[in-house]
Amino acid sequence: MGMPLRRRLVLSAFSLSFGLSLITIVLFTVLAVSDVKSEVRKTYEDILRSFTYAQKLLGEGAQDVSFPLENCKGMEAKGYMVLTEEGVMVGRVEGCMFFGSPLRRAIEFTAQVNGLDWMVLYDKEVVERLAEGKEGFMDRFVRNKVIEKEFLVEGSYDPKIIRELGRITGYGLVDSFRTLVVEYPLLVEGSLPVGRVVFVKDFSAKLGEMLFLPAFIVGYSVLLVVVLSTALLLIFNRIVRDILMLRDMTMKFKELDFSDADRLATHLRKSKERDELYYLKRAVLTMAQELETFINRLKDEKDRFEEMAYKDPLTELDNRRSFTEKAKAMVEHAKRYGEPLSVLMIDIDDFKKVNDNYGHDVGDRLLKALADVIKRSIRSSDVAARFGGEEFVVLLPKTDEEGARLVADRIRKEFGKVSIDVDGEKIRTSVSIGVASLKGEGSIEEVIKKADVALYEAKGSGKDRVVVFKDTGERRGKG
Ligand code: GH3
Ligand code: MG
Ligand code: MG
Repeated sequence: MGMPLRRRLVLSAFSLSFGLSLITIVLFTVLAVSDVKSEVRKTYEDILRSFTYAQKLLGEGAQDVSFPLENCKGMEAKGYMVLTEEGVMVGRVEGCMFFGSPLRRAIEFTAQVNGLDWMVLYDKEVVERLAEGKEGFMDRFVRNKVIEKEFLVEGSYDPKIIRELGRITGYGLVDSFRTLVVEYPLLVEGSLPVGRVVFVKDFSAKLGEMLFLPAFIVGYSVLLVVVLSTALLLIFNRIVRDILMLRDMTMKFKELDFSDADRLATHLRKSKERDELYYLKRAVLTMAQELETFINRLKDEKDRFEEMAYKDPLTELDNRRSFTEKAKAMVEHAKRYGEPLSVLMIDIDDFKKVNDNYGHDVGDRLLKALADVIKRSIRSSDVAARFGGEEFVVLLPKTDEEGARLVADRIRKEFGKVSIDVDGEKIRTSVSIGVASLKGEGSIEEVIKKADVALYEAKGSGKDRVVVFKDTGERRGKG
């Protein structure tokens, strides 16, 4: 036997719901992540676009500062950046003159348009190198800036973000995905990396907004699955319970114990659903009921057969076999206690004629009538049997020859009064009876034989009489 049905069902309900919720979670996580990714990318592109645009405007138009460049061989450029003690200037080079405005304006513009915080991180070493030989440059440059390890920081100083910058190239989410960071390299004098511009956007509100629906759906699906699997379990449980009930019942039915059939019938009467289980239960009930009927019929048949084995069906007297069994025990008893015991051998006279003239039915009625007479005439401790044909034997315990003769005569006389009505005609006949008693060590067979001899004698001497067997010869007696 494999895994029990209940465990298998429970397991499949759970694995099914678990699998389903897992798939939902994975699916919506993937969807949410790609959604967030594209949103981050979009925001980054917006920032970049407005920053580039602002720089371009500055580079072309504004001319807040102008000064000659020291090393400007063949240089004519737009969007050229120069580091001054006021910070980075962006502008254009014409001849050997630089015309520009502070990059900070483009940064502030971008920050305002996109709702950002910003930082400019200058690489301290590069700045120091550029400041070499310029009297007081470094002192003035450092004003309004914070020193953070190898950086000089301008703008909204946030050490947490600065720490995370190392992990980011271009843009990315930091601080548990709550903050979007966009960095922009700061190249001065053509290609010298002096630091970077960092834009910082609080992304948590947006993230919450974006993740609410997927989180809601995932939660909802988990809830749905839990409810569903519980419902499934309840249904499974009912089915399994019913199956177990049926199994127990059929087991009892197999042992021919039908006491549960009524319970099942009541259960079926109460159940409202007409599903497959209902029909299975009904089939089991029908089977049990039919089996019970069948068993009862078998029992009746068995009783009938048992009776048939010991009783003569026509007269309901004992048959030869039953008589012999009882007689043996009675003879043993009589011998042990020295009690008398006698046997009557009864045979209807001219019975063949009755059969021949009126048919077997009439003969049968006569046989029954004789049986009734015999039953009426003997004690309950006596044994009467039909020995075959129209011969009857009666065993009379505690009865001697004389007593037996009296009983035999009573039977003979009573039967003489019996008549069978056939179409108004009264049919009657007589019986001859042989009597013998147990003497000393004889067996039942011997006594019966002697009674038979006496009966033969009775027939021979004119019928309708009782003859008692005598060892010294047969004594005749009538009435
Ligand atoms: P007797 O006076 O010498 O006894 O003559 P009888 O005609 O009675 O002769 P016997 O005893 O030899 O005949 C037995 C007859 O009993 C033969 C048979 O037809 C009839 N018989 C045996 N069994 C039955 C039975 O069950 N029903 C009927 N109706 N007749 C039976
Ligand atoms: Mg006979
Ligand atoms: Mg006869």
